[in-house]
Amino acid sequence: MSAEPLSEGGPAGPGPTSAGPSQGLAPGRRGARDGGRAGNRGTVRRLTPVRAVPPPPTTPIVAPGRHAAPDDAPVATNPAPMPVPRQGPTPAPAAIAAPEPTNAPAPRAPEPPEAHAARRVRQTWTEVEPRVDELADWFAALLFSLAPEVRALFPARITEPARRLLRSLVLPMSTVDRPGELRAMLEPLVREHRALGLCAEQYEVLGVALIGAMRRFAGTWDETSEHAWVRAFSLAAGPMEQAVRAAAAAPAVAEGTVVGHRRLSWDLAVVHVAPDAPVPHRAGQYLTVEIPQRPRMWRPLSPATAPRPDGLLEFHVRAVEGGWVSRAMVAHTAPGDRWRLGPPAGRLGLDPRSTREVLMVAGGTGGAPVLALCEDMARWVRPRPCTVFLGGRVPEDLTVLDRLEALAAEHPWLAVAAVCEDDPLSEHTLPGTLPAAVVRSGDWSGHDVLLAGSPTMIRATASALLVDGVGLDRITYDPFTE
Ligand SMILES: Cc1cc2nc3c(=O)[nH]c(=O)nc-3n(C[C@H](O)[C@H](O)[C@H](O)COP(=O)(O)OP(=O)(O)OC[C@H]3O[C@@H](n4cnc5c(N)ncnc54)[C@H](O)[C@@H]3O)c2cc1C
Repeated sequence: MSAEPLSEGGPAGPGPTSAGPSQGLAPGRRGARDGGRAGNRGTVRRLTPVRAVPPPPTTPIVAPGRHAAPDDAPVATNPAPMPVPRQGPTPAPAAIAAPEPTNAPAPRAPEPPEAHAARRVRQTWTEVEPRVDELADWFAALLFSLAPEVRALFPARITEPARRLLRSLVLPMSTVDRPGELRAMLEPLVREHRALGLCAEQYEVLGVALIGAMRRFAGTWDETSEHAWVRAFSLAAGPMEQAVRAAAAAPAVAEGTVVGHRRLSWDLAVVHVAPDAPVPHRAGQYLTVEIPQRPRMWRPLSPATAPRPDGLLEFHVRAVEGGWVSRAMVAHTAPGDRWRLGPPAGRLGLDPRSTREVLMVAGGTGGAPVLALCEDMARWVRPRPCTVFLGGRVPEDLTVLDRLEALAAEHPWLAVAAVCEDDPLSEHTLPGTLPAAVVRSGDWSGHDVLLAGSPTMIRATASALLVDGVGLDRITYDPFTE
């Protein structure tokens, strides 16, 4: 979930002059070998604590008072949400409403209702987050008791999908005080809800279940919390319902046939899917995918190719340890399988208005969207100078390196460096971790930065770049949930 700031104001740092892709990297097959930084990089910078990923927000989408949990639902008390009007003013919290003594300092302006609601949602979520799996189970139990038909949308093991759904509801709720950001995140979330099979009418019951679960698990739940959560839910639910209704005419999912499955190693595979009709995605976007071996367990995957005339999609999949879906994709997928493809989503892409040079950092299968973006830029009239760092533990992890290098050999605007943590003696790769290799290879403070890879890699790289003077607003990566 990364549309949120990584930190509250990274260090500005005395930015040395932009190094550009040629600094430390030669065009074509190159590694950044200078081992040091060009320019004035010795200045001590203030380290700002960085929270790489914001606490996942929770958001009940309830039409207050329209549903009450049934008697046998696992809610201790007062199952119906507080009857707060959807668009009306929020009751001021008691502390704000209390009269001030005459000699008190000038009263602070009351917090706007949306800001108060969003803040309370974030606070309460931080409290319950350590017990998110229990919360998800409770939420699902409530939801299924209120709307038994929703059970069929979930697989047998409900914790993980319930957790994802929960987070996808809380995220917009915690952002209701930032309408621009809220709007931007709603579209992909709503698409995912549609791919799951949810419809506009079900948001109400989702909200009731969410608030019921929060009431049970939040340590400091009181009337103010309830009001804040209901308000935040109401503010987020309206636009979601509208978006779902607006999108109802278009099919929520496409289908395609697996036409190729190549196992690169025990835990890596490349899968080609021919969709029945071209999927209108942009380079860098991801699709949520459902495979026949794991029904109703949707997972985001990023195509490794820019949109092609024949519509063929290429996915690079790594089986994660204990992973339900990725292991089946790598080990059991076969030509002829029918995959369901949710609508494209994601923020990873290049702002056409920017003229800045580009830094792309990809870990493992994160190379897929980066390759797609580079292929796409190769079609531009004026591509922007771009440096790609592709990292993995061992060279076999770098599944798209050959293709990136072929592009770089053809296009002087592209420089590529490979980084392998467990291959320190290789002549073709830089040693060390991806974030360390990136920051020691150049000054990126004047670049637009795109990150793709595991949550851990994104956190580490974003933190290193922020500390190194890259502005938060220049770093783009996709929200993720685990
Ligand atoms: C925007 C986006 C794009 C993605 N693109 C790709 C892609 O192109 N190729 C690809 O292989 N995967 C990609 N992923 C990851 C993929 O969606 C799944 O999360 C991953 O395959 C694990 O699913 P699973 O069902 O096997 O694991 P789960 O059963 O969901 O989880 C099992 C365990 O693995 C951990 N885990 C989950 N995901 C990861 C991860 N990414 N890295 C390390 N540990 C993890 C979980 O915390 C859990 O402990 C992408 C994810 C996002 C958010």
